[in-house]
This record gives sequence, C-alpha cells and structure tokens, in this order.
Amino acid sequence: MIRCKTFIQWVVTEQINQLSISKRVQATIHPLMCYKCRTFKRNNKALNQILSEYDANKPDAG
Ligand SMILES: [Zn+2]
Repeated sequence: MIRCKTFIQWVVTEQINQLSISKRVQATIHPLMCYKCRTFKRNNKALNQILSEYDANKPDAG
C-alpha cells in the first residue's frame, strides 16, 4: 500500500491521470482504506471548487 504522503502528493499535484495503471489502482484503493486520505481528498475537491468559484466571481479590480 502506498503511503498517505504519496497519495496526497498525487492528489495535490493532479498527477493521478499520468500514473501507471498499477499506481492508479493504488490511488483509487488508498482513500477507500484510509479515512484520513478520504477526508483529505474530499476537502481538496471542495477547496478547488471554492477557489474556482472565487476566480469566476472575482471583481474586476485590476
Ligand atoms: Zn492515507
């Protein structure tokens, strides 16, 4: 099993789609078995959502 640190690095850098099949399988399984990473992944997704909405609604203040 991959380490939490490795998994988080993949999520943060959005490398998952570029990994080999076997690593991608591990990246899929890891959050299912590790509740910390499951929470992290969800929070990271929510954070990205918030940031993209913020960018879209940013006032054009220059
Ligand atoms: Zn983990």
